[in-house]
Amino acid sequence: MSKGVQGAVLRLLRAETFRLRVKSTMLECGGLMKRITFSSPDELPAVLFEPAAWIRLWFRTSEGREVQRAYTVAGYAPDRSTIDVSFYLHQTSGPAAAWAQRVRSGAMLDVSLLGSRPFHLDEWAKGVVLLGDETAFPAVRAILASLPDDIEARVLLTGEHDLSAFIPTRQRTDVHYLPVQRATHGFERMLRELDDSRIRDRAADNRVAADELWHCWAAGESSMMRAVRAAAKRSNVLCEQKPSTRSYWSRHRVI
Ligand SMILES: Cc1cc2nc3c(=O)[nH]c(=O)nc-3n(C[C@H](O)[C@H](O)[C@H](O)COP(=O)(O)OP(=O)(O)OC[C@H]3O[C@@H](n4cnc5c(N)ncnc54)[C@H](O)[C@@H]3O)c2cc1C
Repeated sequence: MSKGVQGAVLRLLRAETFRLRVKSTMLECGGLMKRITFSSPDELPAVLFEPAAWIRLWFRTSEGREVQRAYTVAGYAPDRSTIDVSFYLHQTSGPAAAWAQRVRSGAMLDVSLLGSRPFHLDEWAKGVVLLGDETAFPAVRAILASLPDDIEARVLLTGEHDLSAFIPTRQRTDVHYLPVQRATHGFERMLRELDDSRIRDRAADNRVAADELWHCWAAGESSMMRAVRAAAKRSNVLCEQKPSTRSYWSRHRVI
């Protein structure tokens, strides 16, 4: 079956390809997500085992075309023989979500690997600010699991559903949920509060600026990500000139 222009471009760019076989499936997060464990006949590429790594999975549409969709590696077996992907079962006829709804053990998927930039903590960061909706939830969990114990985390979850109860407990971590309409304001407020406390701390012990700053990672629906990116750029409390924000899906078109 043809992978069309997307497949031709990925071939041209020498994307690595391999196949995954569904080993088992399990509903999680109160049935909103389906976690699928995949095995591979070949050794899995090392890059998959870094926090928030992602792969391009190929699905068949109802018209018989093959299309690729990006998904995060949500976890893996200690011996690295399997990886897990958590699919948000959004209620549309998207080929990826529809496949995840009905898939059974033994099903096979083609995978392309290109462009995955795993999360790397800025070495000076005082803490991490994470924002994400249901599609970014697997990455948020993977990032939190990768953080050293002394790193603070402020997590703002958004989307149609509050998944905060499904974030494993971690010291020095605040987790909040806000619905989509209030998430950008909430994010701005969170950055303002961090900045206020940075200024207060500074007056107290006059620490150097670099280790007062926070690392920012955000992903979700594309129009929200535009607003989040703008708010992040206006803030004085984030490490990077260009915070790590990424559109994971669009209300108006397929990304
Ligand atoms: C790097 C990266 C990592 C990602 N990781 C994950 C992951 O781990 N888990 C995960 O579930 N998703 C993840 N996503 C998002 C996922 O790729 C998109 O949601 C994708 O569009 C789903 O494909 P689909 O075939 O189901 O729907 P599509 O064919 O893309 O879209 C069909 C319709 O559904 C709508 N739609 C798509 N996604 C959603 C949604 N989340 N909520 C409501 N409506 C939607 C579209 O607007 C469109 O109208 C990731 C995306 C990127 C870029």
